[in-house]
Parts: sequence; structure tokens; C-alpha cells
Amino acid sequence: MAKVGIIGGGAAGMFAAVQAAGYGHEVHLYEQNEKLGKKLFITGKGRCNFTNACPAEEFFQNIVSNAKFMYSSGYGYTSQDIMAFFEQHRVPVKVERGNRAFPASDHSSDIIRGLERALKEAGVKIHLGTKVRHLQCAEGAVRGIVLENGTRLAMDAVMVATGGLSYPTTGSTGDGYRLAKECGHTVTELKPALVPLETGETYIPKLQGLSLRNVALRVKGKKKPVYEGFGEMMFTHFGITGPLVLSASSYIGKSGLPWPMEAEIDLKPALTETQLDERLLREFQAAQNKQFKNVVPELFPSRLVPVMIELSGIAPDRPVNGISREERRVLVEKTKHFPLTIVGTRPYREAIITQGGVSVKEVNPGTMESKKVKNLYFIGEVLDVDALTGGFNLQVAWSTAYAAACALQF
Ligand SMILES: Cc1cc2nc3c(=O)[nH]c(=O)nc-3n(C[C@H](O)[C@H](O)[C@H](O)COP(=O)(O)OP(=O)(O)OC[C@H]3O[C@@H](n4cnc5c(N)ncnc54)[C@H](O)[C@@H]3O)c2cc1C
Repeated sequence: MAKVGIIGGGAAGMFAAVQAAGYGHEVHLYEQNEKLGKKLFITGKGRCNFTNACPAEEFFQNIVSNAKFMYSSGYGYTSQDIMAFFEQHRVPVKVERGNRAFPASDHSSDIIRGLERALKEAGVKIHLGTKVRHLQCAEGAVRGIVLENGTRLAMDAVMVATGGLSYPTTGSTGDGYRLAKECGHTVTELKPALVPLETGETYIPKLQGLSLRNVALRVKGKKKPVYEGFGEMMFTHFGITGPLVLSASSYIGKSGLPWPMEAEIDLKPALTETQLDERLLREFQAAQNKQFKNVVPELFPSRLVPVMIELSGIAPDRPVNGISREERRVLVEKTKHFPLTIVGTRPYREAIITQGGVSVKEVNPGTMESKKVKNLYFIGEVLDVDALTGGFNLQVAWSTAYAAACALQF
């Protein structure tokens, strides 16, 4: 039996503690907040989309950074396993559209309560309001931890489950990266991801609050697009957000390209440019002498109308039957390629995940053990692994935590 210190009482830390204690180890869980799972509480808009019940291959396709690193732990502990775990711990679960799994109650607090029950049953010693300041390493192995108040505690193994930098008010203050560096680990470049994007055009803030469904977003790259997706997005006072935009932000982060980045929205992806031109022609012919500004509302949501008029360059009071083929072409082009300049991301406090982290090259993918320091493990968001929305990031936490707990050999 080993004495195991786990730093961070979030998803990964709590789950690893349950599993490790289940193997008979003496497990101490250190959480700097006064309660466990503060970030879990706000996940999935308070409903906690705790995994995605998709086939394993699809799980890996939804991992943006270092999917291959996740193969071993992802196959070792799957979405089916974590759903069964919660059912066993008296948290009924349900699966919704897109295979997203939630507690049947729609309350993230039930997921936290289920984990807390499991921690208690497994006999984990929980230390709340306890911040870990340093790791103690000697002769290539971890020897213990040092608390904020200077107390030194000897450990046989230590797991770093401190999360990333996103939503720092939940306790994710990036301590794990510092701890990792202290022991000689490389931390890759950190960026906010799954995060809204800021845009440069003056017409975007005017669209604040407008949601678009069934549109395509394309972010241009040097040769091929950095991101192309179809779905839902929203305009805000600073730029754009919504599912499509959050996904785009993760791929923008990976591209390593400098700001600003050119992007475009296809407002009518179901129509080709020729079909759209035919549609315009039909509308204009039917409207006869009507002014352009009174016909445009037939084509776009009302909030978009003034912007589309501005972009088309056609005077709003022009009769539509006088609009030339070339003028129609410009309108078609702006509709299929609504221009956006992305100037940056929103800050970490608005990001769902941190991209970058402890380099996976220095961590054993089967066990999450450091390749540099024996008996030291990194699990969850602190690793350089991030995924798209849909429950995949929490599955990364469960799978890596499970792998580490199983690997403890004493
Ligand atoms: C708004 C929001 C919604 C999200 N929704 C979803 C969702 O629905 N589905 C999904 O899959 N993912 C979601 N995520 C992502 C998901 O929350 C994270 O991937 C996951 O919480 C990472 O788990 P973790 O245990 O690695 O880190 P965390 O959950 O961040 O836990 C880390 C813990 O470590 C503690 N800690 C840090 N440093 C120290 C220290 N020095 N000493 C002691 N304790 C320390 C922190 O206080 C914290 O409690 C969401 C994220 C956000 C911000």
C-alpha cells in the first residue's frame, strides 16, 4: 500500500482518488478551494455534460491536441465505463442529441455528489482549503509535497490534477504548470481555447444578439482553411461566439498563425452561388419597383438587413428592377462570403479549456507517469490534451485519472 497525494479536487483528481483508494492505497486529496469540483459545477451550463457516448474512434476524432497520446487511456476507460460508474454511485444518467451524456436530473451537483459519495466510501482523506505549493523530488523520483503553509508531507506517489488556466475563479490558476516546470518538465505554449473570438469590423457589434443557425464558418489559412464547420453561431458586442465559433477557436489555436485571421460566413450554405443569384432574380422580378431596402428583408434576418445593404454597396432606395447583374453578383458574393477579420480570442476567464500544457512527450501514455520523475503523474487538463465540446474534455479527465490510478504499483 502506498501513500498517494493528489493535487486538485476537480474531475480528474476526485476520480483518480476514488480509483486509487479502491486499490487499497492511502489517498490524500488536496484542494485549495473550500469545496470540491467547483468547475464541474458550472460545466454543461450547470448540467454537466460528463462524457460523450460515442464509439471510441469518434472520441479520438474530437480530440484537437494529441489524440494519439489518448489511445491507451481512452480505450482503457471509455464513456461506457464512466456512465456505469455514475449509475453504480446512484447518479442516473441520460444520453441526449449528439451522444452527450448528462445526469438524468440535469444537475451537475449530482455528479459532484456521486463522486463525493465514492470518495467517502473509498476512504479518501480530503484536505479542503489546502494549497500545494511545491513538489519534492530527489534522485529522479517524487518524494512528497510542500503545502502553502510550509508543511512538508512525504508521499510514495503524487498526481498533479490542477487543471488549466480557464475560468480561474474556479481555482484553475495554472499551478500545475509551475509544479511541472519545477521538476524539469516542458510546458507547451498555453492558449485559451473553446473560446469566443474578437472581430475587427465595425458592423459586427451592430449585430449583437443575432443568432444564425445552419450557416458555414470558414477561417482561412495560408494554403488551406484552418477551420471549416457548419452549425450555429452568434454575434456579440466584441465579435462572435456559439458552438461553431468555439470549435473554430481550438483549430485557430493549433494553426500557430498570427493575428489577424481572415474568416467568412456562408449565410446560405444550402444554395450554390448560381442558385442564390437565381433566387435574387426571382425576388427582384416579383418585387418590380420596390426599393432594395424593402426586398432585402425577404432574404436575411432583420438584424442583418442594414449590414447586407451596406456590404452590397447598393443604395437602399434603388428600385430592384434596376439592379444590375454585377450588383447582384456582389450581393451573392457577400452572402456566400460574409467577411470577418478575427483579431484575437477572448481571455482565459471566458475559455472552456486551456490549449497546451505538460508536454505529452514526457509522460507515459499508458500510465500518465512522468518519464522524468518516477511516481509523479499528470492527469486531466494540466496535460497538453484538449478536445471539442460534447463531453470529450471530461472524458479525458476520467480516462487519464483511471490510467494513473491503475498504474500505482507498491
Ligand atoms: C464553463 C465551462 C463549461 C464546461 N463544460 C464542460 C462540459 O459540459 N463537458 C466537458 O467535458 N467539459 C466541460 N468543460 C471542461 C472541463 O470542465 C475540464 O476539462 C475539466 O474540469 C478538467 O478537469 P481537471 O480535474 O483536470 O481540472 P479542474 O476541474 O479545473 O480541477 C482542478 C482543481 O485543482 C485545484 N487546484 C489547482 N491548483 C491547486 C493547488 N496548487 N493546490 C490545491 N488545489 C489546486 C483547483 O482549485 C481545481 O479545483 C467546461 C469548462 C468550463 C470552464
